Amino acid sequence: METESVLYRKGFGLKKEVKGDIQQHYHSELITYLISHGNEMQFGDVHVYLAQDFGFCYGVDRAVEYAYQTRVKFPDRNIYLIGEIIHNPFVNSQINRMRIEILDGLNQESIDFSFLQPEDVVIIPAFGVHHETLERLKTRNCILVDTTCGSVLSVWKRVEQYAQEGFTVIVHGKYAHEETQATWSHVSKYPGGRFLVVFDKSEAQIICDFIEGKIGSEALMEMLGKAGSPGFNPDLDLQRVGCANQTTMLSSESLEIAGMLEEAFINRYGKEETGKRFRSFDTICSATQDRQDAIIELLNSKHLDLMLIIGGFNSSNTGHLAEIATEKNHSFHIAGDESLVSADEIKHKLPFKNKVVVERDWLPNGSLKIGITAGASTPNSKIGEVLYRLLSFRNIPEAALNSMIAAEVTES
Ligand code: SF4
Repeated sequence: METESVLYRKGFGLKKEVKGDIQQHYHSELITYLISHGNEMQFGDVHVYLAQDFGFCYGVDRAVEYAYQTRVKFPDRNIYLIGEIIHNPFVNSQINRMRIEILDGLNQESIDFSFLQPEDVVIIPAFGVHHETLERLKTRNCILVDTTCGSVLSVWKRVEQYAQEGFTVIVHGKYAHEETQATWSHVSKYPGGRFLVVFDKSEAQIICDFIEGKIGSEALMEMLGKAGSPGFNPDLDLQRVGCANQTTMLSSESLEIAGMLEEAFINRYGKEETGKRFRSFDTICSATQDRQDAIIELLNSKHLDLMLIIGGFNSSNTGHLAEIATEKNHSFHIAGDESLVSADEIKHKLPFKNKVVVERDWLPNGSLKIGITAGASTPNSKIGEVLYRLLSFRNIPEAALNSMIAAEVTES
């Protein structure tokens, strides 16, 4: 007889036991020092401005801590993780060093879980997993540690409600992103549940054109069919829609997309009927929103020479911060201090493109006003390393900065 797995959703009460390791891996004295000075400081001829909201969010904090607690709770067990815990290579390599094996999170349906034994432990990352993946895992009778972020669970609740009420779910997100895959899998679990993922405004416009009768179903399927639920039929499935979004998208774009779709419905059906056919709910999480608001505030209020956005190149929320910055300021999305190759060369990801390039002459001479922020999956330790390296190019060595921090600690 098959029995079900034990599922832990609240950690193991081992906060104190993991605090030291987490502090050592992800804390930065330099960043704490900068924060204690109101997020801005002059270092030689470099003025550094740190955004008011940056770095690790509540969901990432929680997921990382649960992963550490899991190793303490089960020191000798095999522990597996479905995909990356979050999109930061440094954090994932730390997790890996704790003998936690990362499985393929992007192709979950291809993982054969028959190797799992009852004593094995599987961690579910902050993005969550496919509904079917969780069901398959449950039948293995192993231990499951679910770190799915509460904000992601709220999106699932919303899209499930749409599906139950017979609305097709339009998700603004990246079709292949783990979180969006998990979200649409929650729509598919309802008989007749339909979804269509749109990446940006130009894809949303295709749906609008269809709703307004400007293009036919064949043209829509040719352009967007791959991002729809199996058997998607625009003629039947785009009569009533509910909008939601991946939690880490550009919030302004998500709102615009919902507005575009509503307008298309009004143009086709009129206002009153649209009330019955159209639903929308902004499911951007507050941490993403706060980081986007903070970078906009920083860019609008200071006249920066340069803006650095720090985070994994596959991090969706970091990428959107870089997109916001590039519209207003000279800026670079970098992965960490290793991206600052030298005072002459920087390795960075181009905004709006999936391309990493090396650029020369990136650091202006003379006095410099530089803004710094980081995505929700970037630990302070990585931000601190970037700042140390940047200042070293201006002949301010790490030792001098550490003495400065130590002197202030002694004084206080
Ligand atoms: S970015 Fe938002 S949804 Fe993602 S883990 Fe952080 S708080 Fe949760």
